[in-house]
Amino acid sequence: MKSIQLNISGMKCGGCVQTVEKILNNSEGTKNVSVNLLTESAYFDIHNSQLNIDEILENLSNNGFPSKIYSNDFSEKINKAALYKKQKWISKWKKLNFAFILLFFSVLGHLAEGGFINSPLLGNIFFHASLATMALLLPGRQIVIKGFKSFLQNRPDMDTLVALGVTSAYSTSVLSLIFPESGFPCFFNEPVMLLGFILLGRFLEDRAKYQTNSSIGELLELQPETTYIYLNENEVKEIRVSKLTPGDEIRVLAGDRIPADCIVSKGNSLVDVSHITGESKPIEANEGDNLLNGSLNLNSSLRLRVEKVGSDTSLAKLVNLIESIQSQKPPIQRLADEIAGKFTYFVLSISIISFFFWWKIAIRLWPDFLSNHNNGLSIHTNHSLHSSLGSTADNPLNLAIQLSIAVLVIACPCALGLATPTVITVASGKAAKKGILFKGGDKIEIASKIDTIIFDKTGTLTKGAPYIKGYEGSHDNKFLLQISASLESESRHPIAFALIEESKKQNLNLFPIKNIKTESGRGISGELETISGEVKVGNLKWLENNDIKISQGLKNLIQSDDMKKYTIIGVSLSKNLLGCILLGDSLRDDAQVSIEKLRDNNYEIYIFSGDRKETVIDLAQKVKCKQDRIEWGLLPEDKLKNIECLKKNNHKVAMVGDGINDAPALAASNLGIAVGSGTQIAKANADLVLMGDKLSGLYYSLEIAKKAIKKIKQNLFWAFGYNVLAIPLAAGILYPKFGILLSPSIAALLMAISSITVVLNALSLD
Ligand code: ADP
Ligand code: MG
Repeated sequence: MKSIQLNISGMKCGGCVQTVEKILNNSEGTKNVSVNLLTESAYFDIHNSQLNIDEILENLSNNGFPSKIYSNDFSEKINKAALYKKQKWISKWKKLNFAFILLFFSVLGHLAEGGFINSPLLGNIFFHASLATMALLLPGRQIVIKGFKSFLQNRPDMDTLVALGVTSAYSTSVLSLIFPESGFPCFFNEPVMLLGFILLGRFLEDRAKYQTNSSIGELLELQPETTYIYLNENEVKEIRVSKLTPGDEIRVLAGDRIPADCIVSKGNSLVDVSHITGESKPIEANEGDNLLNGSLNLNSSLRLRVEKVGSDTSLAKLVNLIESIQSQKPPIQRLADEIAGKFTYFVLSISIISFFFWWKIAIRLWPDFLSNHNNGLSIHTNHSLHSSLGSTADNPLNLAIQLSIAVLVIACPCALGLATPTVITVASGKAAKKGILFKGGDKIEIASKIDTIIFDKTGTLTKGAPYIKGYEGSHDNKFLLQISASLESESRHPIAFALIEESKKQNLNLFPIKNIKTESGRGISGELETISGEVKVGNLKWLENNDIKISQGLKNLIQSDDMKKYTIIGVSLSKNLLGCILLGDSLRDDAQVSIEKLRDNNYEIYIFSGDRKETVIDLAQKVKCKQDRIEWGLLPEDKLKNIECLKKNNHKVAMVGDGINDAPALAASNLGIAVGSGTQIAKANADLVLMGDKLSGLYYSLEIAKKAIKKIKQNLFWAFGYNVLAIPLAAGILYPKFGILLSPSIAALLMAISSITVVLNALSLD
């Protein structure tokens, strides 16, 4: 199935996300739509051929979300990243400064009014009237215009609520100032405060956006802008990298980065590939070696032949991958978005209902309700900076107008919009600092539910760097190594790596090979060009199943106590066993401690391995794993079946694997966890990557996920709590009986407290 990614501008809040999602879901041929506010992107699968992308784009843009197909153009992306860094960040600070200036003055205003500061200017109503006018015209203008626009297009969003609240508060105050006899109260301070908090909230959101983008920015910085192309054997000329095409010959000097995926055609040098593969040791690049885009040439100049350019390179693919990861969001966020989208309608209806209620109905229920004295949550002098809306009304229509405005003024769901993204950003940021990469917010939610953890053995619990311990049953150990290493040059298994390293150390020449077949979890078979007959290298059970006879003596020997910690592979030629190679692999330094910690915290631990019984049991004892929790001799598909079985029994399963032959198991589990390095981010089917080859991050990542989800729930509670409390009060629910109305300043204070609680709560995650 093909998927499409769009860049979408104009989204401001959960309501917008909801609208965009709806548009995409309702379009012909789309599936699995996911829209992300933070990365300003949408991601969906193409479901059938009726999909008309131009129509979708037009539809989006007609609704106020100009979009384009996510650009694969690498140079465009790099330019954008640089621009983002320079411009946007500055304009964000502008927002923050505005926010603080506004909040500062409105607090001073409150203090002056309460008599805490003696300043004729700050207490002056005209000073506050001009401050409010400026707030509305300068930082508020954009929000207000956008809010009314979307209101007119019949898709009210967060901006609509803000716009309605701010302008209605402002215009009532202006009316009151010009016609004091209208009976309207004057509260210029509230629109100022409201805008202040909105801007503060937006700033926090932008910061989150900036942070997610900066990890991509770091990768993009690996791409050089220019390079030297060979005009003939000796002469070079500097050209822009975007002009390169496959087949070009280029020169990369020591200290420069490789501008495309290339093959070395002349020279040798040390190359730092750490950004791309996570491998910290520089590699030695010789003629014929592949070098990936973005690697750093360390010590001598190289002549390279360009293989892949632009968006085909590994670097571009990695960037793509991370971008698409970030557009997956947790279901819990989806819920919040959905609610925020509907919330506007809810608020508008409450406002309209209360209007009609106070205008027409209230007088019949309580004939003398207007003589009620306001006595509680507000100060009520007619021309003070703020009195509660409605407290000065002397007829039902006047009260009705004022209370319906009050509902609009206070119902700004800033806290609701901040509740999830703040937590997700903080949690993934904290995790990333420890080398833990969650591939999307939804993975954090899944991780929080895990109760069972399955470990692969080789390369996961062990270091995955086996060494040759010895040989058994062979007449010519050198030949045994030579023949097996030749075949293994086609394999990426850690065992293959060990054999090849050892043969290099002994200066053995590898034989040319043909008809190679790797059998995942079993071994590898093939033929040599020079010697006839089929060669097999792999575990003994597999060889035996292929009619290769293994002597009883050998079997007894390898089952002995001395031998049980070694992985044993047999090498056969034309159905005859040539001998066995014993491989040792040490336990990861932090395996024991990590497993103990997980077990102490009630996670169920299993070990699934493809290796032989004795070796697996030996290792399980070292990490104190119970006999009934370990499985050996498993093929990749057996691992998968066992996982399905656990899942059926209501376990939430995380599988920790090395990502080389565990991909199916990683994909089948609820949460696939890969331990390893950078390229594996791209390769493995993992939901969570523990970088830097450390298991100790595992416990941390599951715990931080749990804490994050708890925080999100708390946040949603605080955000809703405010609205649940404030809206009925503003609508006048306590007025008939107690004469209590909600003054906008108290409403703004409540709103501020709820927003600040949400942000502080997210930041306190540890
Ligand atoms: P684990 O599940 O412990 O990570 P694998 O599934 O990777 O183990 O491999 C299981 C067994 O299959 C190994 O112990 C080894 O005997 C054999 N094997 C797998 N791949 C190879 C290979 N490329 N060369 C030799 N033996 C292999
Ligand atoms: Mg393995």
